[in-house]
Amino acid sequence: MPLNDSPAPNRITCPVCGNDTEFLEVAEDVVLTTVYMQNEDGSFTPLEDNSQVLGDIKLICGECEEDLTAFHQRFSDMLF
Ligand SMILES: [Zn+2]
Repeated sequence: MPLNDSPAPNRITCPVCGNDTEFLEVAEDVVLTTVYMQNEDGSFTPLEDNSQVLGDIKLICGECEEDLTAFHQRFSDMLF
């Protein structure tokens, strides 16, 4: 494989500040539901974690906080 310094064509780069390393995914209106079981000694053990996103999910630049939601689909596709 030849050495190649050019970025992969599908990398997301912030058009405002050029950041291409750190991004934030922000979910609005999230309902967090956790199921707990109470133990004999009165302590609780979490059994199940259900979170439901009711609002929009945004992709935000980690450097300048520009809204990059237009890239969110690509972000989701590249999430492993
Ligand atoms: Zn930026």
